Amino acid sequence: MTEYLDRFASHVVVVGSGLAGLVTALTLAPQPVLLLTRAALGAESSSAWAQGGIAASLGDDDSVGLHLADTLAAGDGLCDADVAAAILADAPAAIASLESFGVQFDRSPDGAYLLGLEAAHSRHRIAHVAGDGSGAAIVHALVEKVSRTPSITVMEGIEVRRLLKTDDVLSGLICASRSGPLAIPATRIVLATGGLGGLYETTTTPSGNYGQGIMLAARAGAKLADMEFVQFHPTALDAANWSAGRPLALVSEAVRGEGAILVNDRNERFLADQPGAELAPRDVVARAISAEIAKGSRVFLDAREALGQGFANRFPTITLLCREAGVDPLRERIPVRPAVHYHMGGVATDLHGRSTLDGLWVVGEAASTGLHGANRLASNSLLEAAVMGMRAARDILETPRSMAPICNAIELPVSSDLSFVRPIVSRSLGVLRNSQTMRSAIGSLLPLVEKDGAAADPALVAISIAVFAFLREESRGAHARTDYQISLPAARRRRMTLSAVLAAAREMAPLSFIHSA
Ligand SMILES: Cc1cc2nc3c(=O)[nH]c(=O)nc-3n(C[C@H](O)[C@H](O)[C@H](O)COP(=O)(O)OP(=O)(O)OC[C@H]3O[C@@H](n4cnc5c(N)ncnc54)[C@H](O)[C@@H]3O)c2cc1C
Repeated sequence: MTEYLDRFASHVVVVGSGLAGLVTALTLAPQPVLLLTRAALGAESSSAWAQGGIAASLGDDDSVGLHLADTLAAGDGLCDADVAAAILADAPAAIASLESFGVQFDRSPDGAYLLGLEAAHSRHRIAHVAGDGSGAAIVHALVEKVSRTPSITVMEGIEVRRLLKTDDVLSGLICASRSGPLAIPATRIVLATGGLGGLYETTTTPSGNYGQGIMLAARAGAKLADMEFVQFHPTALDAANWSAGRPLALVSEAVRGEGAILVNDRNERFLADQPGAELAPRDVVARAISAEIAKGSRVFLDAREALGQGFANRFPTITLLCREAGVDPLRERIPVRPAVHYHMGGVATDLHGRSTLDGLWVVGEAASTGLHGANRLASNSLLEAAVMGMRAARDILETPRSMAPICNAIELPVSSDLSFVRPIVSRSLGVLRNSQTMRSAIGSLLPLVEKDGAAADPALVAISIAVFAFLREESRGAHARTDYQISLPAARRRRMTLSAVLAAAREMAPLSFIHSA
């Protein structure tokens, strides 16, 4: 029996409690907010696992222009330069707002920010908190602040399964809760549901997050953008005790920023001749490591000479994660491999976080603003989550409120099962792709979407990646095709609705599928 929560009809509903959701809710105060989140407040979020920190041009030798140049170079021609310039220009203000919410960034005794260096950044510009425990410390401070903000009602243990529409207008959400299905009327909804690493067998992200925000928005009619761009982090900890589907711990880029080198099992520094060497863009490093692994080698990050005994002080969290996996980074080389880490694509939004569907804002990793283009520059994502949470909140406060139409609840869709989709996605939509494996993936995913069972929602997100990836007949940024190895002269972003994705998928699916369907 579905319970109706009519008392929240005038609230802004925010879904997700990573950095983007927490910042949105806090910036909206004292406007009443209902914050829905699947686990405990702040938990099951990539935000809480972040190690490096937040990129911002705060140093004396830095500027928004330099930060922009690095961002555009990493984005490989596909960033929206105006969007990127606007978001990066907001970075110092976002850091100041986070401080006003209680976040304490690491500073030197003279009060200057301690700024780290990460791959493909030309300046030290990563503001961090508690060394490499940045994400946990930031989320902890914001959770505290949310708990002390009377205008924010938090409901934990709530999974949003569908957005509801009445007469084609957004009218609410249907959710699973411990006490049964809930229908919540709402006309202003913010999705801050994070990325889609959970679709893959090897990921550094919380494995339950498979792109639910993308699925919710797409099913409600919002357009998706640049879904093919999935970033693989080159250096996930290749622990001997790991099993498929469980997140791999991350060994942050900051370790390479401090001088650690990558070697194969013959102790060859295989990136030495690459421009930037170990600090080349992520896709370049991920492909080089994958190539070594494909040759049968293992790959190691060696921090012994660069950091030695200093490793534990500079990277306490990573030290702990390594030791849990039986590796002592002070004395041994750290085994690493690429794993899905971030999604540059997502729900298409403008600079206010507005999706193409009236009343729906999407912020953080679930959105695609155009900042990251074909490849995200390290530590620009927490920045985007904070800036866009603030921007969306300000936009909502300026948007006239419409009356909530009657919200007709539908039957609660079943809980998602990822076990069918993960092997397909991992095989066909990894670091290297080609038309043959993508077509076969589309052929396997389409029946799962159309059958509408427990695999349908993850399959829908996966087929969107596959269709976008199939249509991009070039290699660019994180999207590397063995059958189209060069970049086309003109970079083009793409937006599609779900119905267009599915229509394209039906054309692309192998004939064997069409006959059997
Ligand atoms: C290990 C790791 C290290 C990283 N390090 C850095 C770094 O140093 N710097 C940087 O800039 N970026 C880093 N990133 C990327 C960055 O952390 C993320 O891009 C960013 O935190 C995303 O924030 P978010 O608020 O959009 O999503 P998340 O923080 O992932 O939060 C998503 C929230 O949505 C909830 N949710 C999902 N689906 C539903 C649903 N259907 N109903 C209700 N709730 C739902 C989740 O439970 C969670 O609360 C890192 C990522 C990882 C995995």
